[in-house]
Amino acid sequence: MKSILVFLLCVVIASSVQGQTQWKSPGESVLDRFLRYVKIDTQSQEDQSTTPSTKKQFNLANLLAKELTALGTQNVRVSEFGIVYATVPGNLPDNSKVPVIGFISHMDTSPAVSGENVNAVIHKNYQGGDIVLPKDPSQVITVAKNPLLKEMIGDDIITADGTTLLGSDDKSGIAEIMTMIDVLKQNPQLKHGTLAIAFTPDEEVGTGIEKFDVKGFGAKFAYTVDGEELGEISDETWSARTATVTFQGKSTHPGTAKGIMINAMYALADYLGRFPHDMLPETTEGRVGFVHPYIGTADVETSTLKILLRDFDMSGLEAKEKLLRDMVAQTQAKFPEVKISIDVKENYKNMKVVLKNFPQLTENAMEAARRAGVKPFLKPIRGGTDGSQLTFEGLPTPDLFTGGHNFHGKLEFNSRRGLEKSTETLVHLVQIFAEKAK
Ligand SMILES: [Zn+2]
Repeated sequence: MKSILVFLLCVVIASSVQGQTQWKSPGESVLDRFLRYVKIDTQSQEDQSTTPSTKKQFNLANLLAKELTALGTQNVRVSEFGIVYATVPGNLPDNSKVPVIGFISHMDTSPAVSGENVNAVIHKNYQGGDIVLPKDPSQVITVAKNPLLKEMIGDDIITADGTTLLGSDDKSGIAEIMTMIDVLKQNPQLKHGTLAIAFTPDEEVGTGIEKFDVKGFGAKFAYTVDGEELGEISDETWSARTATVTFQGKSTHPGTAKGIMINAMYALADYLGRFPHDMLPETTEGRVGFVHPYIGTADVETSTLKILLRDFDMSGLEAKEKLLRDMVAQTQAKFPEVKISIDVKENYKNMKVVLKNFPQLTENAMEAARRAGVKPFLKPIRGGTDGSQLTFEGLPTPDLFTGGHNFHGKLEFNSRRGLEKSTETLVHLVQIFAEKAK
C-alpha cells in the first residue's frame, strides 16, 4: 500500500515537472468546442456601415452567450454591435485584492477566404511529411514552409479540407477561453480573481473594437488570445501611418492638347520609381519597418497614391514620413507644372509605449506558459491588434498564442496539443495573478 502511495506521489511530482495538468478535466474538451465553432460561418466584410459587418456573426455570438450562461458566468449579454460580454466571479476570500483580468477573442474570420461549410479534418497521430488537403490536392501544408511540423509528430493536426479557411483565427482563442472557464468551474480549488470575458466581431476588418465598452467590461488589464505559435507572446505592434500623395495635372482633348495638357501620370510614375527597394514589405522582416505603396489611381488630371508607413519605433516612423516628403520634393522639382501634395494620417501606435509600464503582464504570461510546459518567447507583431487600440483606451492588452498557424488562408491549421496547451496556459495565468496579489 505504502509503496503504491509513494509511486503515485512520484507520478504527481514527475507530471508537474513536465508541466502536465493536475486538475480535473473540463466538461467538454477544447477540441470539441473548437470543432463546433468553426462550423459556424462568421466571415466579416470590408467597407460596411454597420457593426457587425455581417449579420451571421450574431449566430456565434448568441450561441456563446448561451454556453457562457450554462457555464455559470454572470452578466452575460450580447450588445447591439454583436459583442458578447460575461463575468467569471472570483473565488478568493477577498476578490478586490486581485485585479480584474480580461480575456478577449474575435468571432469573425477573414474576408480573404470563404468560411462557409468549413469541414475540419483531423490528421490523427501525425507522423511527419507534407499534409495534402483532401478536397483540393493543390493545397499542401509543406514541412519546408512550416518547419514547426517537425515538432508535432504524434500530435493530432487539424486543418480545413482545402476549400475554405479553418477559422482557427480566432475560434481557437474562443474555444480556449471557454474551456478555461469550464476548467475553473470543475475545479473550485483553483483560486482566481474576477475575470471579464469578451468575444468581438469584425476584428479582421478593423472596426469591431471601436464599439467595445471598455468601462462596462470592467477589467484592469486584458489579453487578446489571438496569436499563433505555442509560446508566442506579443506586447509590441507597429506604429502605423497612411500617406496619400495627390498629383494634380491638367486634362484637355488630346487633339488640341499641345502646350496645355499636363499629364499627372508621369509624375506618379517618377514618384513610384523613387521607393527604396530595401524598405518594402517584400524585402523586410523581423523588426525592420517598411513603406508600402498599395493602391492608387492613374489619370491625366488627378493621379493618387496611398502608402502604408510601418515601424516599431517612433523615430523610424518619422524618418519614413520624412523620406516620403523628400521624394515629393524631388518629383516636384522634376515636374514643376504638376501640383503634388502629401497628406499623412496616424492609424495606431505601438502598444509597447504603454505596456512597458506594466511588465507583469508579459512576465505572468511567460510564467503561465512555462507551467503549462511551453517555452515562451516575445514576438513583435508586424501589424496591429485589437489590443493595441484597447491599450491606448486605458486597458493594457498584450496578445497571447493560440497554437494556430497560417492565418487567413486555406492552409490554416492548429493541433490538439496547441489548443490544450494554450488553454492550460490561461488556467495557470489566472492563478498566477491571484498568487501574486497575496
Ligand atoms: Zn485574429
